[in-house]
Amino acid sequence: MLDHVAMLEGVTPAQREGLVKTGAQRRLTKGDVLISQGAPGTAMSFLVSGQLGVSLGEATADPIAVLGPGETVGELGVITGEAASAFVVALEDSEVLSLGEDEFWELVQSSHPFAVNLIVKLAERLRKNNATVSSNIEKRRLYERAAMFDGLTGIHNRRWLDETLHRLVTRHERDQESLCVALIDIDHFKKFNDTHGHDVGDLVLTTVASTLVKNLRPTDLVARFGGEEFVILFPQTTTQEAKLAGDRVRETVAQTLMKKPDGAALPHVTISMGIAALIHGEKPSDTLKAADLAMYEAKHGGRNQVRVAQR
Ligand code: GH3
Ligand code: MG
Ligand code: MG
Repeated sequence: MLDHVAMLEGVTPAQREGLVKTGAQRRLTKGDVLISQGAPGTAMSFLVSGQLGVSLGEATADPIAVLGPGETVGELGVITGEAASAFVVALEDSEVLSLGEDEFWELVQSSHPFAVNLIVKLAERLRKNNATVSSNIEKRRLYERAAMFDGLTGIHNRRWLDETLHRLVTRHERDQESLCVALIDIDHFKKFNDTHGHDVGDLVLTTVASTLVKNLRPTDLVARFGGEEFVILFPQTTTQEAKLAGDRVRETVAQTLMKKPDGAALPHVTISMGIAALIHGEKPSDTLKAADLAMYEAKHGGRNQVRVAQR
């Protein structure tokens, strides 16, 4: 009955017979629980026939793994004495042969092939678990990365901006470096959307975002602040330098040809920008507020212009 058990490969026929005599033979009906999650491990079982499922949380949960005849279960619990990490449930009527702790250790002591098979199986499981952990870490990294980018424009988003600004402010406080923040808002964008449609508006947002990124120094940082607003962080930059850079990108945006997906030309769009330098000791949100006020001055001044917060 144990001929097809991989873990018993190399174990002598006499020892196998001994196991059949000493082990507890059990018939499980579909749905019977062989091992309960949380219960201490006291037996290792060979699946003689049928099918077992491994489920997490509840015995009736969809199995995360399925075991067939010849496979073994419960050995880790016997070795570590720790509680089972999952339920093992009969997916169909099944037969198992279970060895208690003493019989298990006796077999390890008396059969070199069994001990080797056991080591190989545990090593395989370790490998598999390591691969799962690595892939989970990788997935988490990807999710974290995705959470820092704006889905529409592909540039960094507000969450990234908040974190980065916080980091830059800490550095600014430490190194006494100048840091400027620019807030940008597209002019009359509501009318643009109303005239050309939201999808075309989205396209323009993407074009403006890439125009900003392409026309700034690699050390300047751009993010979509929300809606049709963007923020540029200018590290180690004075307000005069930021104003020059800001005016340059403002001019570039105004000259950028906007196109519909079918290639048809659209009216040019312009941006208004407010710039504020971080004042020693203030919160990042205060600097953003000052840049926002300066941006509104640019709007009131006629739009398509850059204003620097005077403070
Ligand atoms: P102003 O020059 O004063 O900024 O005028 P405005 O029309 O741009 O300002 P307002 O804040 O009234 O309108 C912003 C518009 O931006 C509203 C909305 O239609 C548009 N908008 C915001 N987010 C998106 C977006 O993700 N996609 C598109 N297509 N439009 C957006
Ligand atoms: Mg706005
Ligand atoms: Mg606007």
